[in-house]
Amino acid sequence: MHWVDAVVKDQVGAQTVSTGISPSGPIHLGNLREIITGDLLNRGCKDKGLQSKLIYLADDMDPLRKKYPFLPEEYELQVGKPLRNIPSPDGKGTYSEYFLSPFLKSAGELGIFPEAIRAGDLYRDGKMGEIIRVTIVNREKIRNIIEKVSGRELEKNWFPYNPVCSSCGRINTTVGLELKGDLVEYKCKCGNSGDANIFTEDGKLPWRIEWPAKWKILGVTIEPFGKDHGTVGGSYDTGKVIAEEIFDYPAPLPLMFERILLKGKGAMHSSTGIVIPASEILSFCPPEIVRFLMARVPSTRHIEFDPGMGFLSLMDEYQRMIKEQKEEESRLIELTIPVKGKAQKILDYRHMATLVQIYSDARKLVDVLKRTGIDATTEEVSKLMKLARHWIDNYAPDTFKFSILPAKQDVAISEVEREIISDFVAWASKTDSTWEATEIHNAIHNIIKAHGTEPSEGFKAFYKILIGKERGPRLGFFLSAMDRKTVIERLRYVI
Ligand SMILES: [Zn+2]
Repeated sequence: MHWVDAVVKDQVGAQTVSTGISPSGPIHLGNLREIITGDLLNRGCKDKGLQSKLIYLADDMDPLRKKYPFLPEEYELQVGKPLRNIPSPDGKGTYSEYFLSPFLKSAGELGIFPEAIRAGDLYRDGKMGEIIRVTIVNREKIRNIIEKVSGRELEKNWFPYNPVCSSCGRINTTVGLELKGDLVEYKCKCGNSGDANIFTEDGKLPWRIEWPAKWKILGVTIEPFGKDHGTVGGSYDTGKVIAEEIFDYPAPLPLMFERILLKGKGAMHSSTGIVIPASEILSFCPPEIVRFLMARVPSTRHIEFDPGMGFLSLMDEYQRMIKEQKEEESRLIELTIPVKGKAQKILDYRHMATLVQIYSDARKLVDVLKRTGIDATTEEVSKLMKLARHWIDNYAPDTFKFSILPAKQDVAISEVEREIISDFVAWASKTDSTWEATEIHNAIHNIIKAHGTEPSEGFKAFYKILIGKERGPRLGFFLSAMDRKTVIERLRYVI
């Protein structure tokens, strides 16, 4: 059984799967694991016949914790204010939407269309009002739960509601004093004091209470979350007790997922800048592969992502799976497809990454592929070309990169190399020789052998002449991808 189906196997009745984020910086590949995991569980529920939906909750009432390195100096003044009240770095709209909207667009490309909910809207629309009241009325009980479960002592003046200061706009410098009717009296470090209306976005619950409150308000039944929340005494543990004992709501089925590490760099964090933003991933990685990356291993296992050659191996692995269509991988294939029921073949990415370094015109490439027996539309080809080009420019190791030398550029070669090339030109000029990868490979191999040279030594001559390097793409395939006449002319010029 696939791990997704195993997780949801005991769920009954209508399901609401919830995931979310505090949109404080670029939303990255690690965050994609969260929403993809949520989508997989949502699909798991639907596929076993349950009614199910996915919601994505943006915690836009959270304060900006500090001026992150990617922000201009003047954001120092915004620290402590709710993200939804801070202007966007590009001057259009709000800070939280600036990071959220490209992320939701990326999710759409992955076939994920959650009901996106802004926490601030829940407060603004009064949906949190009653549960805030229940929280404040039960504050001593909640204090005991948090202290007992987390082992952390709360401050004497701890108040389970954080008002936004009406003067300085900060939410992390105020302290609530008392609830009178619908208003929480507060004072702020800036010297201001005032009243916050619990039925508006005048303030928010602290995270450890807000989380279980949202489970109840939104009817959440399944919630995947990162390991930070899943430690012993962490916010899931306290949330579960608060939900069940104070809010009279059963805690959702938890699923902790591990982090995604970037090869050689460690865990991704918006705050440190060690990130590949979600939109960046999709500029070189087909959506299927992002889903494949997450679906192929249980969420409890960490993933080390290597955007370099490791990525090509991942592509190879995917292509193998699609080609073989093994029974035991059928569920994985199903979960990997962005739009259910539409299995799409992807052209060989590794080849494409070589071909884009020879051709820039998609129509030309369609012809080249046709010659090797691969039928593809110009649209398919140009889509993958764009991805592969981006990968070459940004992530491919230097050993993988090349450019074709001009037809009339001199290259120094040895006498034996000259003979090998000359024999090959003679072979290639014969009308009965086929311009096909294996044929070309065999012909070169035989010629090199006939000259008593090591194959790798003999290959060097070709690479030196064509791309000015000693190594390159597999030679038979490489030459077959190029135009026969062009190759012959180039080789002839040098000999
Ligand atoms: Zn203030």
